[in-house]
This record gives sequence, C-alpha cells and structure tokens, in this order.
Amino acid sequence: MRIGGFVPFTSIDYPGELAAVVFCQGCPWRCGYCHNPHLLPARGSELLDWEALLEVLHRRRGLLDAVVFSGGEPTLQGDLPEAVREVKCMGFRVGLHTAGCYPRRLARLLPLLDWVGLDIKDLPEHYPALTGVPGSGERAWESLELLRGSGLPFEVRTTVGPHLPEARLRRLVHRLRRLEISHHRLQPMRPPPSEESNMAAWSPAPSTSWKPASAPTSSVADSHSKPHGPAPPFSSAGKNAPRGPSSAA
Ligand code: SF4
Repeated sequence: MRIGGFVPFTSIDYPGELAAVVFCQGCPWRCGYCHNPHLLPARGSELLDWEALLEVLHRRRGLLDAVVFSGGEPTLQGDLPEAVREVKCMGFRVGLHTAGCYPRRLARLLPLLDWVGLDIKDLPEHYPALTGVPGSGERAWESLELLRGSGLPFEVRTTVGPHLPEARLRRLVHRLRRLEISHHRLQPMRPPPSEESNMAAWSPAPSTSWKPASAPTSSVADSHSKPHGPAPPFSSAGKNAPRGPSSAA
C-alpha cells in the first residue's frame, strides 16, 4: 500500500466509532476544490510504511473500533482488498471513503467492508467539468447503485461550493431523495491548505448557506478528517489530529 498520511484517532470519520484513518496515496481525478493535493500523485514523495503502520494498529486493538481507508482514492490501489483483510483480522471494523472512481473494484471490495462514505459531487453530466475526467459522473453514480444494493450502511456526501449552483444542488438533493438515500450530508468546501491563508480568493459560495427545507437527512457539516501535508508516521495526535472543517475526498 502507498500511504500518504495517517490520523491515529478520530471520532468523526466513521459514524459512532472511534477510528484511525489511513490516507491512501493517489487519485485519478483532479477536482478543483481538492483539499489534499499532495495525495493526488500515485507515488507521493513521503510515504508511510504499511507494515509499520500495521504494527501501530495492532497496538491499538481495544482502543479503537475501526479503521477507515480514505484518500486520495483508496480504490486506486490494487492491494487495498488485502490491506482491508489485514486490518479486519485484527478485529477492527473497516470503513471506506471513496469518490466511486472504480465501481467494479468497489463491487469486489464491498463484502469486506462495514461502512462506506461515498462522495456524490454533482449530477453525472457535470462531473467532467469538476474532475477533468470524462465519464467520471457515471462511475460515481454507478458506485452509488452498488451501495444501494449492497445492504451495507453508507453515507453520501456532497461538497457545497461555487462549483455547485444552488438550483443544481436542489436537483441533486431531490434526485438522491427519490433514490431514498437515508444519509446525505452536505459539507462546505475548504480550500487546499496552501491557500487557506488567502481566503479572499475563495469567496463564500452562495449555496453554503442553503439548507434543504424538508430534507432531514441532509445537513451542512464536516464529514471527515484530513491529513495536512505529508504526515510523519505515528506522531502524536496533536500533530496529526483533525484540524477543523474539511472537505470531502
Ligand atoms: S476531491 Fe477527492 S476525488 Fe477529487 S481530486 Fe481530491 S481526492 Fe480525488
């Protein structure tokens, strides 16, 4: 596994569970608002050692409930199923954060998982303008169909920002509601860490203040932790701890 970051303890990345988050290196998409650009190259410059990380998780048995694979895009890596098995063998529940880039890989992975957080970024036809990849919307929505049929608990997350006008966000919410998605979370866009000091460049999106009037399962909230810069392996929670609101993968 190519690991670009690690958060040893979080209570917000797996609903109801205390979890560690493993940030997988690499993503095939290039969303304009990506909060973790250092995780996008398939081969990062400062990777953590997977075997050493397994040892850390081994020592945390009984302290943590779950391990979440996030990214980047975890399903990019062919050895993810084996990594999931290794973690499950230690007794942890396993969660996955994914943008749904690889539905066939996701289908093979689902029987190994306990929970999934899936990004649905937009209506399918609008994905390429955001991700830079033709067909990316169809893949994400196919992944959603797989999850709907899997019986697994899952959450759909949508990052809200200037890229998603309010009228389209409403259409997206209605479409998900028609699919009877029981957990849909709206989360505000965050700029990449390198641009956080220049917030003026990221004027607040008109839609960030919008809340669906009658969609009790949708909320504007942060969904999960993010590492900030290549994380040193297994450092104190203080250094690698979640740092305020973050956007989806
Ligand atoms: S936001 Fe997620 S899917 Fe988009 S480029 Fe970043 S890691 Fe990849």
